[in-house]
Amino acid sequence: MTKLDPAGKPFAAAHFIDGRAISGGKGAFENRYPATGELIGTVPAADEAIVDQAVTAARKALKGPWGKTSEQERAAVLRKVADGIMRRFDEFLTAEVMDTGKPVSLASHLDIPRGAANFNIFADQVLTLSAESFRMATPDGAGALNYALRVPRGVIGVVCPWNLPLLLMTWKVAPALACGNAVVVKPSEETPSTAALLGEVMNEAGVPPGVYNVVQGLGPDSAGEFLTRHPGVNGITFTGETRTGEAIMKAAATGVRPVSFELGGKNAALIFADCDLDKAVEGTIRSVFANCGQVCLGTERVYVERKLFPEFVARLKTAAEALRAGNPFDKATTLGPLISQEHRSKVLSYYERARKEGAEIVTGGGIPNLKGPLAQGSWIEPTIWTGLPETSAVIREEIFGPCCHVAPFDSEEEAVALANDSPYGLATAIWTTNLARAHRVAAQVEVGITWVNSWFLRDLRTPFGGSKQSGIGREGGVHSMEFYTELRNVCIKL
Ligand code: NAD
Repeated sequence: MTKLDPAGKPFAAAHFIDGRAISGGKGAFENRYPATGELIGTVPAADEAIVDQAVTAARKALKGPWGKTSEQERAAVLRKVADGIMRRFDEFLTAEVMDTGKPVSLASHLDIPRGAANFNIFADQVLTLSAESFRMATPDGAGALNYALRVPRGVIGVVCPWNLPLLLMTWKVAPALACGNAVVVKPSEETPSTAALLGEVMNEAGVPPGVYNVVQGLGPDSAGEFLTRHPGVNGITFTGETRTGEAIMKAAATGVRPVSFELGGKNAALIFADCDLDKAVEGTIRSVFANCGQVCLGTERVYVERKLFPEFVARLKTAAEALRAGNPFDKATTLGPLISQEHRSKVLSYYERARKEGAEIVTGGGIPNLKGPLAQGSWIEPTIWTGLPETSAVIREEIFGPCCHVAPFDSEEEAVALANDSPYGLATAIWTTNLARAHRVAAQVEVGITWVNSWFLRDLRTPFGGSKQSGIGREGGVHSMEFYTELRNVCIKL
């Protein structure tokens, strides 16, 4: 147990198959607390036999009572899962903070409550799910009636990232179960705990064994690859890096299985001189530094109308320097560490690149000087640059750290062109008090999600996903139900 953890023992993660926690597989991997680097667990890595066991359990569950449940029954079970998460809130919170190092101030407001909310929203959705019907004319005059039947896809492979582990996993598991599927989840190797803990909640809520399964392990030549190429998996939903999405798409091509992808981003914020400055600074600071910059929707490119540029950069600097790094279990901490030493090396390589390319470092640029056990954690300074050319890799590639580059623009057209000059297309934040401008710009930015005068304000019924290399398909509300069900047409000659 770590010295910094006041809340109790971290949860020991294992596979969860057919309603039981099991170990076994091909070796094991370490789970470390990013804030101190301490080893908090050793997790078994699934081999092909373990993955096959999980997929077989899921297929069997679909043939059992779960396959015959009504929407009302499934909605009731999902609400019990949501209640179960809230009942064991502190356990989920500790497990998530220990796995990720994110501050409790964030996880207690975002990750854990959203994990529960995902089950409630999709319990609501499934009760109002409908499918179309058409009457048609026939030559004999009697006519025919067509209607669509919605059926579950079958076994869904759910491959998850480490940045918002419970939130993003339940965002897929909840609608999949609402629609009557069974799932096999592959959590990130960095964050194995909350997926395993959710297995206990599923049992308590009365979810039949085999409906929710978890296999732990890595990606290539490990649990991720074994799961995505398993022929018993009928559809794959994945959140993670664009390059990983390409690999999973190749695996899904065998057997022509559908995919739903939420991938990387290099998101822009457009700050117009007519914005409410306090709100724009506050929103931009959150969008750059929340979760130590490890949010797919986060801002790494900030474009500011030229006459506001010096003042905005100065305000961002002050706000960034006010962020408080420290023990994640301390409620006053606002900045956690990065997920791992490996990820810190990657982010630092961009810090170094920005320096070499002649960026002006407005603040940060290195490793903070933390004392005691925290000195061994994967901490990094929040960093702001200006002055790089738009061709720089620092501006073009997703860094996934607490950093942004700020550049001036002179016209609305230029702002839109700068925002769109990216292979990614996930999110944009527009800050302006000019309503007409807000509508004009929102219609032109090539992204799946546009916020005006806000950031990460989420109505879970809305379509969520990315354009260009940021994803395939949309999740959220009825859009999730589209992926997790298949429509079959029934034509009745009258
Ligand atoms: P990642 O792609 O490295 O890993 C994600 C998952 O895929 C992990 O569970 C990993 O083990 C698995 N994996 C890796 N290679 C695999 C393979 N060949 N076959 C099967 N599975 C494999 O992503 P990450 O580093 O965990 O997460 C960060 C990335 O996720 C960032 O790019 C971020 O933008 C993106 N992300 C996107 C969204 C979104 O909604 N668009 C949300 C969160 C994170």
